[in-house]
Amino acid sequence: MVEKRKKIGFIGLGVMGRPMALNLLKAGYPMIVWNRTKSKMKPLLDAGAEGANSPREVAEKSDVVITMVTDSPDVEEVVLGPNGVIHGAHSGLIVIDMSTISPTVARKVAKKLAEKGVKMLDAPVSGGEIGAIKGTLSIMVGGPKETFEECLPILKVLGKRITYMGPSGMGQTTKLCNQVICALNIQAVCEGLILGAKAGLDLRKLLDVVTAGAAGSWMLSNLGPKMIERDFKPGFKIRHQLKDLRLVLSFASELKLPLPGTALVQQMLRAVEAEGLGEKGTQAAIVAMEKLAGMMLSGEKPLEKEMGD
Ligand code: NAP
Repeated sequence: MVEKRKKIGFIGLGVMGRPMALNLLKAGYPMIVWNRTKSKMKPLLDAGAEGANSPREVAEKSDVVITMVTDSPDVEEVVLGPNGVIHGAHSGLIVIDMSTISPTVARKVAKKLAEKGVKMLDAPVSGGEIGAIKGTLSIMVGGPKETFEECLPILKVLGKRITYMGPSGMGQTTKLCNQVICALNIQAVCEGLILGAKAGLDLRKLLDVVTAGAAGSWMLSNLGPKMIERDFKPGFKIRHQLKDLRLVLSFASELKLPLPGTALVQQMLRAVEAEGLGEKGTQAAIVAMEKLAGMMLSGEKPLEKEMGD
């Protein structure tokens, strides 16, 4: 088991990384942090973490390095790049990448690290910023089983449901399946609501009754009301969902697997992004359906350009 006093290096202190790192600090883990934009290190330094000048320095001074950055090239940069973790690697170092990236890239990075004697887990998460703050994330893990078991005490600080999915890349593969199900569910909610609006139903009553039946889902309960109220404040951004669907469709292409529904949702979300709504929450997907329908959920005609403030 990784002892509580093992030193954790944390790289990527954005929306998700900052609260995750803070939770580990609060749990008593000594910590060294690095973030590309230096100012984002301040809350962690104020809470007692040490600051580093590069991912390489983080690796030199840690037992376990956690990365929480945006996309596949970003993980490659902080781990394998010129000043990356790999150059500060020492025997026994473990890397846990918790970003959502391509399973193929996760395997490639793990292989490069293994050549230096470093073990890697891919451990992406679900549960959003709230789950990161509360330490209730779902964590899906790929990599060597014994490394998973060794890191379980650390992962338990961050998440509530932690599942070992198999060898390297299987954590990311699980996360991509999760994103397919989420994306199609959002499209289903959009189509159900626009049909109700066109046919003149009271949409709140519609939500109330169908939420309790077989159509009930997290998306319907959480995003349905926001679509009706036109509350597009982001939990999970359209831009990030598009990144994840690009990863899904590229991975499916590698497997020669058609995913027609996912491709459709990707195009719908592209249309939403083209409206200038990429930074809005995924509930803004309703805007694309409204454009196709020639009417808003409220019954009004859609605006020429929807800026959705
Ligand atoms: P975010 O707030 O945009 O933070 C991204 C972090 O990555 C920032 O610290 C950023 O540094 C760093 N970064 C990006 N590219 C980098 C590079 N090339 N080199 C060094 N640092 C780099 O994003 P987030 O919401 O925390 O998401 C992080 C990951 O978690 C993503 O893979 C996302 O898909 C996944 N995720 C997010 C959610 C959610 O609800 N937000 C839920 C589940 C999973 P700077 O500060 O310098 O920009």
